Amino acid sequence: MARAKKTTTTAPAAPVRHRPAIRRGAGTLGRVYQLVCSCGQSGREHAARRMAQVDLNAHLLALPPVPAAQQCHNPKQHDRRGWEPCGICEHQTALFDLEVDR
Ligand SMILES: [Zn+2]
Ligand SMILES: [Zn+2]
Repeated sequence: MARAKKTTTTAPAAPVRHRPAIRRGAGTLGRVYQLVCSCGQSGREHAARRMAQVDLNAHLLALPPVPAAQQCHNPKQHDRRGWEPCGICEHQTALFDLEVDR
């Protein structure tokens, strides 16, 4: 009997995307709001939406800053957010060799 080997899928540098949202749910005390992000992270349940928003902001602030060269100049077209590095723009910047420090 052949031993089934575990296939380790090594997806190199698949960027984790962050699309945080505030999910409304029902808790024991009534309506609750909770940060949920596409990266898998979720915050605590809050009775106030504002508190979940605080969690959301804190989550984004905790992300590593995007290097200047990887900042997206066309977020709508490239489907990037301010906290996401953009490979497309990175290439373009390198192409045009704009004034990029470090
Ligand atoms: Zn996230
Ligand atoms: Zn871009």
